[in-house]
Amino acid sequence: MHDVWKVYPNGVEALRGIDLKIEQGEFVYIVGPSGSGKSTLIKLMYREEVPTHGVVLINGVNVKRVRDWKIPHVRRKIGVVFQDYKLLPNLTAYENVAFAMEAVEAPRRKIKQRVEEVLELVGLTDRMHALPSQLSGGEQQRVSIARAIVNNPTFVIADEPTGNLDPENSWDIMYLLEEINNRGTTVVMATHNKEIVNTMRQRVIAIEQGVIVRDELGGEYGYED
Ligand code: ATP
Ligand code: MG
Repeated sequence: MHDVWKVYPNGVEALRGIDLKIEQGEFVYIVGPSGSGKSTLIKLMYREEVPTHGVVLINGVNVKRVRDWKIPHVRRKIGVVFQDYKLLPNLTAYENVAFAMEAVEAPRRKIKQRVEEVLELVGLTDRMHALPSQLSGGEQQRVSIARAIVNNPTFVIADEPTGNLDPENSWDIMYLLEEINNRGTTVVMATHNKEIVNTMRQRVIAIEQGVIVRDELGGEYGYED
């Protein structure tokens, strides 16, 4: 991102001059007070929003130049994980993950093998035919992580993935994201979880009122909230 500004139609300046580069293979935490611009920053990273000013490059592609019909092509290499999981309620765990492969027109014969592989990685082989409503929060988040990685993305972005989970389930999610990162995938995660950030000791980018105030390797959470 080069001098990125995001001004919403209501006039709120959510981001004000962001300069930032994330390299392949990094693990990055985005921290900062509520309303500081973390989710906005993340939305720019998967082209949910476009910058009002400045340049956002995703895997080298300028998002402003991407035409609407090309958006799925850009997103294909990005996995996204949300606080509220965003699973399709009428599809089983297996079908939710398979759907992400069908959406990018993966070959039929590859889908079953790959979906079973990622569901095994997240430890849900025995629950794969359950509906989201039949799964715990931690299990639903693991399905959403399986969905995020099924198409072998170059990076995974997570906006408060542990926000609705108890400490034990939160740590399970963190170990999964760490494992995914160890396999070479870039991970960017916005979080309010102080204990996780201070334990994992990764790169920490802090934003306040739309400005980066700190960007350090092995950084601390740094807020009392
Ligand atoms: P939290 O920790 O509470 O999730 P955040 O750091 O993710 O906060 P953002 O959601 O990025 O913060 O919001 C940054 C600012 O932009 C806030 O003032 C918010 O009210 C505003 N904002 C966010 N989305 C929109 C929108 N779609 N339209 C108008 N204003 C918005
Ligand atoms: Mg947010």
